[in-house]
Amino acid sequence: MVVCVAQIRQAVWYQWLTLPLAFIFLNLVEYWGHRGPMHRRPGRNAWYLPLLRPVYRRHTLRHHRFFHRDAMAFEDSRDFHAVLFPPVLVTFFLLVSVVPSGLAVTWIFGANVGWLYAAMVFAYFLNYELLHFAYHTREDSPLGRMPAMARLRRQHTAHHDPSLMGSYNFNITYPLGDWLFGTLYQGHAGDRTEIPAASLLRQPNR
Ligand SMILES: [Zn+2]
Ligand SMILES: [Zn+2]
Repeated sequence: MVVCVAQIRQAVWYQWLTLPLAFIFLNLVEYWGHRGPMHRRPGRNAWYLPLLRPVYRRHTLRHHRFFHRDAMAFEDSRDFHAVLFPPVLVTFFLLVSVVPSGLAVTWIFGANVGWLYAAMVFAYFLNYELLHFAYHTREDSPLGRMPAMARLRRQHTAHHDPSLMGSYNFNITYPLGDWLFGTLYQGHAGDRTEIPAASLLRQPNR
């Protein structure tokens, strides 16, 4: 982030609009990435299967089974792997996403906008990891007591309810996409007992 911001030269005021616009774009990428490949099992013949199957497996089959609405918090640091991406994957995903899209933005809008866009991608990802990590700490921990954390955590806890996870609260950070597309659930996990058809994790006893 610091390296990107240091490259900016005499930016005019409207170039700074890149930051809020990139924020909205990344929020929608987070929303559709989570609502799509992370929760939708790819069809057997999908050509992109080798790319998306690990995403679905890591999220729906691993993260959602590891943390249930009634057991959201890490027990110790050995549980961190169920939330944080391994450093190699972080580097790989950031490089394959930031480099081509940053080059495209630079080509269309110029270098200042390109560097601001890249800085926002890194900031957004860092914020995503910090918030998601905080939701899975104990409520009485210093991270769990941060301002606005209770509300964001409640929304993510509802998403960890197997009867809601296929249908609601796909934004992990700020619920802009959920608000826009009508999938924001503001109740508490466990308030609803019926299981929507979209739910992907089968719970035969509920
Ligand atoms: Zn989670
Ligand atoms: Zn999910």
